[in-house]
Amino acid sequence: MRWVLYVDMDAFYVNCELRDRPELRGLPLLIGHRPTDAPSRAVVLSASYEARRVGVRSAQPVREAARRCPEARWLPPDFPKYEARSGEVMAWLRERFSAVHPQSIDEAMLFVEAGSPAALVEIAKGAQAGLRDAVGLPSSWGGAPHHLIAKIASDRAKPGGVRIVPADEVARFLAPQSVRAIPGVGPKTAAALEQGGIRTIEELAAAGHRTARRLIGAWGGSLVEIARGRLPPQEEPTESGPRSRSSDRTFATDVADLGELEGTVTEMARELGEAVAREGYRFGAVGVALRWEDFARVQRGRALPGSTASPAVLANAASRLLREVWEEEARTSARRVRTVTVRVERLRRAREKQVSLDTFAAGPSPD
Ligand SMILES: [Mg+2]
Repeated sequence: MRWVLYVDMDAFYVNCELRDRPELRGLPLLIGHRPTDAPSRAVVLSASYEARRVGVRSAQPVREAARRCPEARWLPPDFPKYEARSGEVMAWLRERFSAVHPQSIDEAMLFVEAGSPAALVEIAKGAQAGLRDAVGLPSSWGGAPHHLIAKIASDRAKPGGVRIVPADEVARFLAPQSVRAIPGVGPKTAAALEQGGIRTIEELAAAGHRTARRLIGAWGGSLVEIARGRLPPQEEPTESGPRSRSSDRTFATDVADLGELEGTVTEMARELGEAVAREGYRFGAVGVALRWEDFARVQRGRALPGSTASPAVLANAASRLLREVWEEEARTSARRVRTVTVRVERLRRAREKQVSLDTFAAGPSPD
């Protein structure tokens, strides 16, 4: 049987630093600019598990982190280093698995054959140990018949675990979890659902389409389907033909304004989406990358639950990714943006289409 394995590196930035500075192991370590030398809205980029134990987490304002964990050691982010380690991780995975699809700097989706859940556990544990030996970095692994479930399982496996969810356990696995466990559901969507008394996936499944749509718009219907374990058939990206397309724009003057970036990204995404559709392709994943004025590069990508040819879906997804990157990275430093890239991945010929989820991704995005 064909399975999806989802690997997510644990506290990636922190562990990249610990590999180079083993003397910091076991200490609360935070990646970010400490409050004294950071802009007031700066956030923590990555926190060691020792720091998480006292309530520090990534994306928390640095002032709050410093208050909760005054003894923490701080290191400024070193993005070129993290990009390099990410390259080592992906290269190692590609040597061992034939179908490796990076999803972000520290996450990848793999397709593997396994005769049973137990056999899949062995494959995942072997790779987890191998990756730690070869690259020196810890990871968590999720496995399921579908990438959405595999991703959620990798999250539940953190830190350092393996969690396999066979098809007949999907509903039971999802039921007690927070709606936040569903990829793409952020604090704003969760808060809107809570207005209707919906906190868990089980409650979302029970609420039904109409209620969910009333609370969060068109996207609500698709979320209910996921909550009920009705997932679209897993599509595996094709190996022949182009796998991705991207478009870059370098600004004449470096840009520090999110509104301007968003306008540019939306326009680029529409052009790219129209070009890809004209060539007869659909895409199943979207990525956005920024190169800062100091040439450090940050990227973020997301797999869609199905494939689409819609330029509007691409523009919407790209603009969400941009905002996420911006919130996570830009607030921690006053760097301006030099180049922006919009990318579509998991291209497939439109006639290979199995399922269309245009309505899923085109819905309003409160986050
Ligand atoms: Mg990670």
